[in-house]
Amino acid sequence: MTTTTIGFIGLGNMGGPMAANLVKNGFTVKVFDLVPDLVAGVAGAQGCASADEAATGVDVLISMLPAGRHVKGLYLGGEDTRGLLEVLNAGTLIIDCSTIDPASAQSVAAAAAAKNVLMVDAPVSGGTAGAINGTLTFIVGGETTAMYMARPVLEAMGANIFHAGGAGAGQIAKICNNMLLAILMTGTAEALALGVENGLDPAVLSDIMKVSSGGNWALNVYNPYPGVMADVPADRGYTGGFLVDLMRKDLGLAMETAAASASSVPMGALANNLYQVHRQTHDAGALDFSSIQWLYRPELKRD
Ligand code: NAD
Repeated sequence: MTTTTIGFIGLGNMGGPMAANLVKNGFTVKVFDLVPDLVAGVAGAQGCASADEAATGVDVLISMLPAGRHVKGLYLGGEDTRGLLEVLNAGTLIIDCSTIDPASAQSVAAAAAAKNVLMVDAPVSGGTAGAINGTLTFIVGGETTAMYMARPVLEAMGANIFHAGGAGAGQIAKICNNMLLAILMTGTAEALALGVENGLDPAVLSDIMKVSSGGNWALNVYNPYPGVMADVPADRGYTGGFLVDLMRKDLGLAMETAAASASSVPMGALANNLYQVHRQTHDAGALDFSSIQWLYRPELKRD
């Protein structure tokens, strides 16, 4: 049994099961979400009526919120609300697991440092299944000391932990990975459509490309063409995977990050636009991101 007390704020699809895994691993956990039912849903945790209450007297505070504005609002406060940096004791460690823009992560980390509060950004990869099973990958940005303190807590929720660099580096690495994933998925869907439209069986073409130089993660383990691979979203009407709307959010962060560093990202920009068109054309926001196959083969939607 560990004596570390953890506050956990944001108990949605990811945060709820992550908090539950901390309880299972023997941590004392205080939880809060704006939705009261979610607070009551974490068995074995101490439910709190406010973020202030969940943050009071804790050693570590974890947040798992939708976007940068929520994270800044929580820690820095607004015109009428005080931020949690006013509540936390000096020496407390903040672990923000939300996927947000690197600039927001860096500004909150700097404000925390000014109050002698440590902070790491630790966005995750692995989806809701990884959150439930405790097998998430954490991509951490922050000081080495803070990373060292965060590790035992992250190990209770994940299987892989990487230190990407200083504050904001976790967010940048996550954004780069997901931009590449979107490019690989759209390219894979495009190649499969070209083959099918020229008489090939998509399963035969996939087998060939998997062991040839076109092999990639999207093709090898997450084939977007229906009927080719079992137990992937394409095999169940593009349900139960990584949503188009979440991919659009991450591509939006990639575009913002590229603009801030004046980087050229033509492939990422094209993937971003393809996902926007796909969402509009097929009302696909709540479908898995491999449904981009429909953009190339609209007849698959009607089948
Ligand atoms: P979600 O919308 O299910 O959960 C977010 C929760 O935060 C909600 O319950 C909401 O009520 C709560 N919240 C918002 N503002 C709050 C505040 N000020 N105080 C307390 N609670 C507040 O989102 P999710 O799917 O759990 O994703 C969380 C983060 O993880 C996002 O940044 C997302 O991009 C990232 N992520 C999600 C997945 C996934 O597959 N769902 C995978 C990797 C990363």
